[in-house]
Amino acid sequence: MSQRIIDFHCDVLYKMLYEGKLDFMSKDALDITLPRMQAGQVSMQVFAVFLEEALISGQPQFSQILRCIDLLRERICSLPDVSLIRWREDVEHWERSPQLTGALLSIEGADGLEGDMVYVRTAYELGVRFLGLTWNHSNWAVDGTMEPRQAGFTNKGRQLIRECDKLGILVDVSHLNERAFWELLELTERPVFASHSNSAHVRKHPRNLSDEQIKAIIDRNGRIGITFVPAFIADSQQVTIEHLLSHIDRICELGGEQHIMFGSDFDGIDDKVQGLEHAGQYGNLLEAIERRYSSEFVNRIAHSNALQFLKTNLPAREG
Ligand SMILES: [Zn+2]
Repeated sequence: MSQRIIDFHCDVLYKMLYEGKLDFMSKDALDITLPRMQAGQVSMQVFAVFLEEALISGQPQFSQILRCIDLLRERICSLPDVSLIRWREDVEHWERSPQLTGALLSIEGADGLEGDMVYVRTAYELGVRFLGLTWNHSNWAVDGTMEPRQAGFTNKGRQLIRECDKLGILVDVSHLNERAFWELLELTERPVFASHSNSAHVRKHPRNLSDEQIKAIIDRNGRIGITFVPAFIADSQQVTIEHLLSHIDRICELGGEQHIMFGSDFDGIDDKVQGLEHAGQYGNLLEAIERRYSSEFVNRIAHSNALQFLKTNLPAREG
């Protein structure tokens, strides 16, 4: 079956930043490499800029975000037939070009933007189109899922949302705590998306979304990227693709057939779903989905839901 898969979340840049020698062209240096993407028919990938405090001395800084963006542009987008997608026109070009691999830039955790809107605008200029406000902890803008106080937005955080709305950066709610999630929907009228979260009804976990949250994302015509993190899928020693299908079922039951997509979290996870251990194994997942759903739905979850989201919400090229 010929497919073009879009994956809305991975941590390749994080690994490449901290292990300088990793080669995106080598077959198996990473969960996601170009050969593995090709083997798994992954044709568009969102790359997250994630800075972990434990690995850098002190607070994340904008200079480190610049390093990650540069890394994507110099070591991944420089490869043959790989290009950075920033504008709606780039997506349309990708659609017409079956050989093309698209790369999109996201920031996971606003920490490194240092509360400075100049940095937010600069990141946008360099191609960042998505912003996950937090990782699991708190930062200058808002609290993440694992922060015990579960606070909402700071004044600076509210300013950040206004700036994102103005620029056209889409907000990713995957690591946001639930209180802040609802506050965000008051702060903006635009669609929001969860790049890598599953159903909390199927598997109770702070990183998963409640039915109410899923419905609210659907009401906004946002998107939900189901993710391959075993701990978010099932309480089992050996998590399988069959377990993952329960999350797809639930999101579809809530009316999300046109809103569901993939957000693997490859290269951000050590434990893997059996048979879905790297980008080259996407075929196993698609086959399992095809056994249960229509081929129209396979197309939707594989790429057309994500594609429609990008075509509707990415900014048009300026000038
Ligand atoms: Zn994450």
